[in-house]
Amino acid sequence: MKKRISIIVPCYNEHEVINIYHEEVIKFLNDDKYDFKIIFVNDGSKDNSLEIMKDLAQKDNRILYVSFSRNFGKEAAMYAGLEAAKKINSDAAFIMDVDLQDPPYLIPKMLEEYENGYSLVYAKQKNRNGAKKSTTLFALAFYKIYSFFTGDKELSGGARDYSLLDRKVIDAFLSIKDHKRFTKGIYHYVGFNKKCIEFEYEKRVAGDTKWGFRKLLKYAFLGISEFSEFYLIIPKLVGFILFILLGVDVGFQIYNAVSANSFAAFNWSGIRIDFIALLIDIVLFYLFKLLYDVRNQSRHRPIYIEDESNIESVNNEAE
Ligand code: UDP
Ligand code: MG
Repeated sequence: MKKRISIIVPCYNEHEVINIYHEEVIKFLNDDKYDFKIIFVNDGSKDNSLEIMKDLAQKDNRILYVSFSRNFGKEAAMYAGLEAAKKINSDAAFIMDVDLQDPPYLIPKMLEEYENGYSLVYAKQKNRNGAKKSTTLFALAFYKIYSFFTGDKELSGGARDYSLLDRKVIDAFLSIKDHKRFTKGIYHYVGFNKKCIEFEYEKRVAGDTKWGFRKLLKYAFLGISEFSEFYLIIPKLVGFILFILLGVDVGFQIYNAVSANSFAAFNWSGIRIDFIALLIDIVLFYLFKLLYDVRNQSRHRPIYIEDESNIESVNNEAE
């Protein structure tokens, strides 16, 4: 029996590109080898994207769609797509953009790596030649800051959501129920053996990007804050400054007392304030920590994710 491979395609107001995408992507689907399904996720489009998907589904029985009641964002669309892929028993699933910035010509190569045993194959742009300069700079800065705070060294400039997930990764991804989602962070979090494939930057084939600068900034910050304890930087920085102040104050008062040759010249009041402020800051630090513990527990992320085991092979009856 052929393996079932689903291709999940989130779409938001994409009437200009859905047909172009379909025409292009099917050139790279080897139906003799795999049972392909293309799952369009209509993320609350206000144009006629859904009608276009329905028309395509009439003509091509590989096409399925899931349509949202309103715009929930690309992250929700990817989650819904993977849930659908699981429902129809897919062996693996691609996630790709509809605007052809995720080149379909990589599909056979990514499948090859999947067959070689990689659980997660993801694509990355080699460079961003041709992309907007400001977005490129923003992306570069983001990945540096992101890896500084989260410790994730895998994610680097040019990484996209374009990926192929085997069944184990689909299950692991769906087991992460975070409401504020950042797929690239989840990929790192779930682990598994990964393969990165690089490609040349591609421009959007038609239509406009759905990400304004503010939306992008918010998303970037969400990625950092969801996969690190970002806010601890505040009590840490304040604590550092207070510590220096305390040192300078103590030094200054010692200098005063020594030059006056009298202990009475030593003024405690400023030092006391620095010290109390430092104590309050330490308390704040632990309060922040506690809040992070509460957040981590309430997200119900799995305690571990299994890759393989031979536990199932044991007969339950004792010998
Ligand atoms: N998208 C979506 N929901 C949104 C925004 C975008 O499903 O709220 C889809 C969009 O239709 C496209 C993909 O996500 O298939 C990437 O969007 P876009 O090309 O606008 O992003 P960019 O390439 O500029 O980062
Ligand atoms: Mg795009």
